[in-house]
Amino acid sequence: MKKYAVIGNPISQSLSPFIHQQFAKQTGIELSYEALNRDCATQIHLIQTLTQLFNEDYSGLNITLPYKVWAFNIIQEKNGLSTRAAQSGAINTLTFINQETWLGDNTDGVGLVRDLTNNLAWPIKDINILVLGAGGAARGAIFALAQEKPSCIHILNRDSLKAETLAKIFAEESCEIKSITPPFTLNYQLIINATSGSLWQQLPTTIQYVDAKNAYCYDMVYKASPTVFSAWATEKQAKSTSDGFGMLVEQAAESFLKWHQVMPNTHPIIHQLRCNL
Ligand code: NDP
Repeated sequence: MKKYAVIGNPISQSLSPFIHQQFAKQTGIELSYEALNRDCATQIHLIQTLTQLFNEDYSGLNITLPYKVWAFNIIQEKNGLSTRAAQSGAINTLTFINQETWLGDNTDGVGLVRDLTNNLAWPIKDINILVLGAGGAARGAIFALAQEKPSCIHILNRDSLKAETLAKIFAEESCEIKSITPPFTLNYQLIINATSGSLWQQLPTTIQYVDAKNAYCYDMVYKASPTVFSAWATEKQAKSTSDGFGMLVEQAAESFLKWHQVMPNTHPIIHQLRCNL
C-alpha cells in the first residue's frame, strides 16, 4: 500500500487526511494518508525531514504552512518544478520518484479556478478581477486565473511593495496584471480575498476602498459559518459569495490526480465536509 502524508506545523486542523481517504474509497485505490507535524526551524532541517520521509517509503507529500516556500527552494535546486510551481513560488504537492528525482507542484491555483468555474459557475474570462493580498496563495491564484483570460487582474495589498513585486513576476502574462493603490475607479466583477485576515476575524485593512456591490466575492479562508469577508460582502450587496472550502477539496483532487492518475469526484466530498462542520 502506498504511503502519503501532509506535513506542516501546526497540522492537527488539517482536513487533507479525511479528503484523500474519501477520494481513495471512491476510486478504489488503496493508500495510507497521515497528517505529520514536523517542527523544522530551517530549510536544511526541512531537507533532512523530507529525506527521512523518502527513506520511510512515502510516495508523496502535501506541504502546508509554513513550509511551502522552503520546499519550493529545495525542489528548485533539484530541477523538479512544474511550470505552475515555478510560477507560484511555492509547493504544496511533492512526488518522490527516486532518491535523485523529487517533483514539486502547486495545485492551489487550479483548485481555485475549478471551484470558481465547475462548482460555483462564476465567470473569469473577460472580467475585471481584484485580488486582495500578495502572499503565496495570491501568487498561485494569479497565475491560474491569468490562464483563463480575464480582462485584468489588479492586486491590492496592505504592503503595496509586495503587490508591486508580485505584479512584476507576471508582467509577461497576456492580461493586464498590476498592483494598485487607492483611490481607484475601476469596477471589479470578481473580488478574491487571498489575505489570511478571516482566520482571525479581520477584514483586510484595505477593505474600505473596495466596492463589492454586484461583484462575485470569494474568500480563500473557510469556516463553519460565513467568514467575516463573506459577511461583509453580503452586507455590501455582492452578487454572490463563497468561502475557500471548494478550493481546498479541488486542490487536493489535483494532487490525487498527480499521484494516482485518477480524478476523483469532488462534489460529494465538499458536501460531506460542509455537513460534518
Ligand atoms: P501568506 O502569509 O503568504 O500571506 C498573507 C497575506 O495576507 C499577505 O498579503 C498579508 O499582507 C495579508 N494579510 C493578513 N492579514 C491581513 C489584514 N488584516 N489586512 C490586510 N492584509 C492582510 O499566506 P498565504 O498567501 O499562504 O495564505 C493566505 C490565506 O489563504 C490563508 O488564510 C490560507 O489559509 C488561505 N489558503 C486557502 C487555501 C484553500 O485551499 N482554501 C489554499 C491556500 C491558502 P502583508 O503582505 O501586508 O503582510
